[in-house]
Amino acid sequence: MSGLTVRDLRVVFDGFVAVDGVDLEVPAGDVRFVIGPNGAGKTTLIDAITGLVRATGSVTFDDHALLGRKVHRIARLGVGRTFQTAAVFEELTVLQNLDIAAGWSRHPLSLLRARGQVPSSVAEALTTVGLSAVRDELAGTLAHGQKQWLEIGMLLVQDAKLLLLDEPVAGMSQSERDATGDLLGRLAADRTVLVIEHDMDFLRRFARTVTVMHAGKVLSEGTVAEVQADPRVQEVYLGH
Ligand code: ADP
Repeated sequence: MSGLTVRDLRVVFDGFVAVDGVDLEVPAGDVRFVIGPNGAGKTTLIDAITGLVRATGSVTFDDHALLGRKVHRIARLGVGRTFQTAAVFEELTVLQNLDIAAGWSRHPLSLLRARGQVPSSVAEALTTVGLSAVRDELAGTLAHGQKQWLEIGMLLVQDAKLLLLDEPVAGMSQSERDATGDLLGRLAADRTVLVIEHDMDFLRRFARTVTVMHAGKVLSEGTVAEVQADPRVQEVYLGH
């Protein structure tokens, strides 16, 4: 495992440069937070890594070159992402959501389910994201935070090794935020995690390394204290 390496990444929309020569290195086992004002290019960075938008430069994850591959091929290489609004099947149970994500619902071994058994990958994901107790509840009835965790669980059963999370704690209660901070630590144990996040209080508590983006470029990188003390970062955040 070598983690994520982004080199000279560039994304241009109709002549507008949304990502402008980004270099980024996230070692395996690390959680990297990416912050920056609206329009900085954070979501486009994730879109480029996951193959949703065309980009130039290079992106490698665990020695696989990702750029130029189709979205589903990139996903199959172990790259999973969440969106700002959790995409779960509300009218299905937590377990059924995980089954579908894992492909178990059409797998011959799904017969195990008839005997009340849960595949080990699904059971493991339920434990990791802390949803074992609500596994038979309809996803639509879950609290906001639990839906976000279910979405992460759906990536885990697909064996995602690079997790790209877009504002996972937005709209969460304080206790849900705390639980998510702990979850990020567990996820990174044997994965690489990149998180877009704005919440400075959350960053101060859970972030080791932060990359600040502005106008498509990396403006600063370091601990939360280091980037907060960086005059270039202060100018971007306070200068407007
Ligand atoms: P952030 O996530 O940091 O708020 P984005 O990556 O969403 O920023 O957007 C970066 C810039 O690229 C913004 O100015 C946005 O308007 C522009 N942009 C994003 N997606 C598209 C698109 N599909 N077409 C044209 N411009 C886009």
